[in-house]
Amino acid sequence: MRALTVIPGQAGSAAVVDMPEPDPSEGDVLVDGLALGICGTDHEIVAGEYGWAPEGSERLILGHESLGRVREAPQGSGFVSGDLVVGVVRRPDPVPCAACASGEFDMCLNGRYTERGIKERHGYGSERWRVEPGYCVKLDPALAEVGMLLEPTTILAKAWDHIDRIGRRAGWWEVRRVLVTGAGPIGLLAALIAVQRDLEVHLLDRAPGGPKPRLARALGAEYHHEGIERAIGSCQPNVIIEATGVGQLVFDALRQTTPAGIICLTGVSPTGRRLTVDAGAINRELVLENDVVFGSVNANNRHYQAGAEVLVAADPAWLTALITRRVPLDRYAEALESHRDDVKVVLELGG
Ligand SMILES: [Zn+2]
Repeated sequence: MRALTVIPGQAGSAAVVDMPEPDPSEGDVLVDGLALGICGTDHEIVAGEYGWAPEGSERLILGHESLGRVREAPQGSGFVSGDLVVGVVRRPDPVPCAACASGEFDMCLNGRYTERGIKERHGYGSERWRVEPGYCVKLDPALAEVGMLLEPTTILAKAWDHIDRIGRRAGWWEVRRVLVTGAGPIGLLAALIAVQRDLEVHLLDRAPGGPKPRLARALGAEYHHEGIERAIGSCQPNVIIEATGVGQLVFDALRQTTPAGIICLTGVSPTGRRLTVDAGAINRELVLENDVVFGSVNANNRHYQAGAEVLVAADPAWLTALITRRVPLDRYAEALESHRDDVKVVLELGG
């Protein structure tokens, strides 16, 4: 079967090659791959900066934003042929640590977890793939065109889950206004969930035009591109979800929080860039205002269920508009390019 693969650590090694059919040890549910979302992590893996192949394989099948249709599933597995499904990305570590033992493998403590398409397990970027029933999520059939958005949605379902838990430290606290920085797929999906919660939502991005402001306004969110100081000054958010990973922006946000504010960081920054910050002023702000800053990555099965509900409740036309390019598997190189007006690029697997 054909699969999009890389040799991890080797830039320029991405190629569609013939790979063996998925091994039954990878799970009882056999799935025809429909489509794959491409994200920043995939770009890092393709650039040779990240990623690990499974033991015994030179190549890693890429892809963790999956969508497929069940071809075969054993009786009693909860799945039947024709079901629209998504595979969970992470698997718990073998020890397991306290987090993995409780099903919260997204918070793994020892780093020995594995991830489909990223770390020591083949991904979902192939014409067929297998998955264990316990890590397979059934989607509403209406999501056949957009279901590959589930995995990025789970990242925000988790972020909101943790914002709620942190917010409960004070019984009177509630989210009032939300500022999301970055109007890529992660930022827009963060805003989608906020809108579904009837919150006042503000989105900040550098793009003055193109699909991002259109998508923000179509949600009913206010779009800002005038810089973070003015955005925070005008909307006074008590929750900020940071989705750019731009170090300067993160520290600018930390300097201007509102009392009892919560800042959730979801963007991964490149290292090695230095900037001068007034650490004392930031510490003073966080302490004197009882602020919380926390990081959030990955998602567990609970967040996949929550994410599936978010997608079903969303406007199908808006979800479709998030996908700005769809590229067939043969032209994979185009899917791995970054174009100026890209929001989400999808590789079609032909299954
Ligand atoms: Zn663990």
